[in-house]
Amino acid sequence: MPEFCAAYWTLSFPEPEIACLELDTPNSRVNLLGFEALTELQTILDRLDVHPQVLGAVFSSAKPGSFSVGADIDQMIRSIDQPRETVLDHLIRAQKTLQRLASAHYVTIAAVDGTCLGGGAELACWCDRRVFSTSGATQFGFPEIHLGLIPAWCGTARLPRLIGWDHAARMIALDERIDSMQARSLGLADDLVSPDRLLRAAMDRIRQEVQSGRWRARRQRLAAPMAVDGRQMQVWADSAEESIRQRWHGRRPAAQRVLSLLRQSVENDLNQACRAAAEVLADIWGSPTHRSLVNVHLLRRHNVHDSVVPDGTVAQAVQRVGIIGAGIMGIGIAATHLKKGIPVHLADASAEALSRAMPAVVDEAEASGSSADFAIAPPPPDDLSPDISVQKPPVSEVADYRRWLQRAESLAELADCDLIVETAVETAEVKRRIYQQLETHVPPTAVLVSNTSTIPISSLSRSLQHPERFAGMHYFNPVRYMRLVEIVRGDLTSDQTVATVVQHALRIGKMPIVVHDSPGFLVNRLLSPYLNESLELLIAGATIADIDRAAEAMGMPLGPLALIDLVGVDTSFFAGRTLWEAFPDRITPLPVLPALFRKGRLGRKSGTGFYRYEPGQQRGQPDSTVMDLLEPYVRRSRPITPAEITDRLFLPMLLEATRLLEERIVRDVRDIDLGMIYGLGFPAERGGLLFWADTLGAARIVQMLQPYQTLGSRFQPTSWLLDMARKDQRFYDDLPAESSVLPPPESP
Ligand code: NAD
Repeated sequence: MPEFCAAYWTLSFPEPEIACLELDTPNSRVNLLGFEALTELQTILDRLDVHPQVLGAVFSSAKPGSFSVGADIDQMIRSIDQPRETVLDHLIRAQKTLQRLASAHYVTIAAVDGTCLGGGAELACWCDRRVFSTSGATQFGFPEIHLGLIPAWCGTARLPRLIGWDHAARMIALDERIDSMQARSLGLADDLVSPDRLLRAAMDRIRQEVQSGRWRARRQRLAAPMAVDGRQMQVWADSAEESIRQRWHGRRPAAQRVLSLLRQSVENDLNQACRAAAEVLADIWGSPTHRSLVNVHLLRRHNVHDSVVPDGTVAQAVQRVGIIGAGIMGIGIAATHLKKGIPVHLADASAEALSRAMPAVVDEAEASGSSADFAIAPPPPDDLSPDISVQKPPVSEVADYRRWLQRAESLAELADCDLIVETAVETAEVKRRIYQQLETHVPPTAVLVSNTSTIPISSLSRSLQHPERFAGMHYFNPVRYMRLVEIVRGDLTSDQTVATVVQHALRIGKMPIVVHDSPGFLVNRLLSPYLNESLELLIAGATIADIDRAAEAMGMPLGPLALIDLVGVDTSFFAGRTLWEAFPDRITPLPVLPALFRKGRLGRKSGTGFYRYEPGQQRGQPDSTVMDLLEPYVRRSRPITPAEITDRLFLPMLLEATRLLEERIVRDVRDIDLGMIYGLGFPAERGGLLFWADTLGAARIVQMLQPYQTLGSRFQPTSWLLDMARKDQRFYDDLPAESSVLPPPESP
């Protein structure tokens, strides 16, 4: 039979009776399985069908390290508005093509090397057997849930039959990915071999299967309903429900649909299970959650690929990092560097604080876990493609953390650092004094960054001899889990400094977003009206529980008062002070934080704040004594409803976002939404603050502000918003024409 070479697939015959179908998506670093690739596959399968002498077919990739990352997301985005019937029709056609791998007259084998995700993983599941390469880069999984979808090319039908119900539920509903060894132990990989032996091993496997004839019986078994004990099934289902609740907090309808599909998979044959999956995907296609999560994907992609540094600017190399301030943030930042194998010198004015911090940094660096493990931190949507994944440090480096961490007794010991991070207390005087002293020790080429949460970078750089090498590099707490880093360009910051800091942020696995200088920059400027309003509500008689519950109901991982406890009551007070000094028209000093501060209630770090914290617990417990403390300041006049609390927390934030756009602190709406999601934990399922606002519309937002006009100018619609309402414009209308933009769902 002649060989055949099309745009995506090449058919060859390494042995006369064995076909090899090699996928090679043109003009792409990774293999995508779009409509064209599936149509071509169908043509090749037609050709093989009429050749009874073919004993087996190997499905492999021409791109080393990338089997396939699955469906083409851009193609999916373009078809987001298709009617349900069209979506269903496409799905059923795709399913039918892949189903042929389990009904062909020959044995089918997937030869998997590297990333095998989504539709790529489904193709591999449809094969009779799978041979995995032992290359460390092999990763198998189903990321569809991050787009609010399910794997509808029958992953929900095939996977539980191959690896068992409980493992399939976790892999699909939680996107738990597996490597080659795990695939082997779960029975998904039938053989493990080095990448150069993959094709040989797949062909050997075909011969073994043909000889034994077992593949035919296995196909029949896999096509039948699954044999699962009812009680065992209930235990698995309960455990999966609980994991889904903890991970997605009821905000990913697709995860629930996965569970019901998997349940049906037990009772139904393979064909019925496939049909059910197609129906479910057609139901959720284009839903508000799907659209919002696609928007988040576009925001991230824009952030990764968009150059924020002027062309031709070369970043400086960073070999050694100094950190000044060994508190909550200093410990987290130092550990992040150690994890990437970067030596750190840690300094603090207090020898005692430094002694406490040294072992804490090593503990923090050794702690494993991802954002998914930290129930109260904003869970950023995970990586959808290897393009934007973060590399883990090589295992050999883990043991060196202690050696790489140096205690600096004075700032003079930071003289040979290329990048110095100041993360001492949030007061301008202390920070300026540190820089003055530091400049006497370090060469003018060293880059200095401040982790200040709020203080304008240009004002901090005023007394520096070399302000051009100074920028803001604002990390978020807890540093281990929070990917965003705001890079703040002061008036005098050079392009090279910005380039160096951006490059460094990427190197340590963070997501940099470059913003212009302003009190609070981007994220804390948005956070400030929200926290401020939570204190206003408390004084107006709302309870701590009501306020935090309303924010959580909106999808925030923590209520504003619990967040103040996490950040620290003292730090929140200092940060708040910078903002009320800058914007007295809309933020007024309130007595709540000073009252807590005076009693030593500094939040989680001191064991009490708005809540009481038991050691080892992530969430605080209600503490009635705090309200006794605040009683003298409370002026209850009328009951406050949950709806009012929600409006009052989020509308001032939205107004502040319009000011950031007007003042050009950010480039466009995407920076705001990215900062909201990755810096503040705004729910990805709403697509971002402004994406969500577009679902309401500017005119409706103006109306929603109306009842609160008596509360002060902080609720007055901005000219930006009024203008939008007048022109019936959406926030996302304001993007450059070439950007991928998703229309928001209709208003509810
Ligand atoms: P922290 O109170 O936990 O630690 C501050 C450390 O700075 C202390 O160990 C203190 O001894 C040390 N220090 C004080 N004066 C010093 C000096 N002159 N020289 C050297 N060290 C000195 O505070 P933190 O929460 O780690 O915050 C530090 C900085 O990070 C602040 O600017 C804060 O605004 C910013 N920040 C905090 C958070 C947060 O959530 N806590 C988040 C982002 C940014």
